[in-house]
Amino acid sequence: MDHPGNLFVVSAPSGAGKSSLVKALMELDSHVQPSVSHTTRAPRGQEKHGREYFFISEPEFDAMVAADGFVEWANVHGRRYGTSRRAIEERIAQGADVVLEIDWQGALQIRKSFADAVLVFILPPSWEELRSRLERRGEDSADVIELRLANARQEMAQVGKFDFVIINEVFERALFDLKTIVHAQRLKVSAQRRARADTFASLDIPAS
Ligand code: GDP
Ligand code: ADP
Ligand code: 5GP
Repeated sequence: MDHPGNLFVVSAPSGAGKSSLVKALMELDSHVQPSVSHTTRAPRGQEKHGREYFFISEPEFDAMVAADGFVEWANVHGRRYGTSRRAIEERIAQGADVVLEIDWQGALQIRKSFADAVLVFILPPSWEELRSRLERRGEDSADVIELRLANARQEMAQVGKFDFVIINEVFERALFDLKTIVHAQRLKVSAQRRARADTFASLDIPAS
């Protein structure tokens, strides 16, 4: 399938810095848009319905699954999370670059529906740093932090299935790496043919 926009999928164990990096990328690059997932977990302190997530009940989630409303969904840390099909299909058709912050199970499902999706995995520099970031963030209770750390081992074992990996040690360096991946994707011949169609035409370059 050929879409005018690119689809980026960013996965990481909780606390590796995925949300901070994606947020900083979007502040620098207005062409990159987030996909707001649906979840059955409760909102954290500052989170707003429709901004970080659409917070829905288990029966509402069941209804969306039954209506084929999700392009992917998965059980993560005991809660369900899903990406709405309409939200991403409409946006990449309009030419936006859409970034999904989803777990590895969802990332692999996305690759099945969107063969051109670019899968990026974020690693923390060490176990000690991962734990201290989760504690410093101060949004999760001690038992939730332990569950997330326990799950991180199996999550990180999936890194080989991704296209790119960023080690988020120095934040600005990791952000540069993420920007570079987005930029390289935009320089692909197929993307340049779409974005710079006039130049290709004026140079008499044949369509394929
Ligand atoms: P929030 O939950 O919306 O406050 O955002 P996050 O938890 O994702 O990040 C909090 C803030 O810390 C954001 O403004 C990030 O850009 C910033 N931040 C995260 N990591 C680093 C870092 O290593 N260095 C610097 N300078 N800022 C960081
Ligand atoms: P995730 O979305 O992967 O769960 P967050 O983006 O919420 O992770 O980051 C977890 C915590 O670590 C946040 O408090 C964030 O500010 C901090 N953090 C992110 N990247 C770095 C970094 N390179 N160095 C130090 N702290 C970081
Ligand atoms: P958190 O509760 O910390 O915001 O997210 C927990 C985990 O759920 C993270 O690994 C995050 O990537 C994942 N996640 C968030 N939204 C989705 C989604 O729409 N689909 C899938 N499969 N995972 C998601």
